[in-house]
Amino acid sequence: MYLEKDIVKEGNQILKKQSAKVSLPLSNADFNCLKGLYDYVVISSIDDLVKQYGIRPGVGIAAPQVGVNKRMFAMNAVDFLDEKETRYLFAIINPTILQKSKEMTYLPGGEGCLSVDRPTSGLVTPRHYAITAKCSLYDFNTNKIKTVTLKLEGYPAIVFQHEYDHLDGILYTDKMFSLEELDQNTLPLFEENEE
Ligand code: ZN
Repeated sequence: MYLEKDIVKEGNQILKKQSAKVSLPLSNADFNCLKGLYDYVVISSIDDLVKQYGIRPGVGIAAPQVGVNKRMFAMNAVDFLDEKETRYLFAIINPTILQKSKEMTYLPGGEGCLSVDRPTSGLVTPRHYAITAKCSLYDFNTNKIKTVTLKLEGYPAIVFQHEYDHLDGILYTDKMFSLEELDQNTLPLFEENEE
């Protein structure tokens, strides 16, 4: 289990590097890393455990963020726009994005990242609204790996692209724009909370 002290922060060159493909079957070291990433996003969604471990909760975390330049990440994103509130909980190995929609979107409140501690409010990161990606998924219940094609749209697609960028040494802050700079035709996917 990774804790706050294990998270590599912005400014560290590890976050700028291109990560290497993971060899399958997983080595013990790669397995332990992927399990740690997966546990981090699972625990992040359970308030009591977040308090207990003192972690900053996150919906995604990539291997470079714990100092491992390998193409692996975990995500745990719930699509609240979907009536069924589908949870996209994956331990992902060697992803490749095959298709990206022309349609773009962004989180109106901006993205966040476990590796970025400074405030970036008022700035957003454009993402493709929908993606198709090929990757291997690790199933920790069966300890099996399967290769799948994921079709994601909206929030889970945004989370996937954020984590995928980490594998190429890119932070969301490298792609940020102020809302005024964005094309007027790029409509936000989510309504801002007006409370
Ligand atoms: Zn991040």
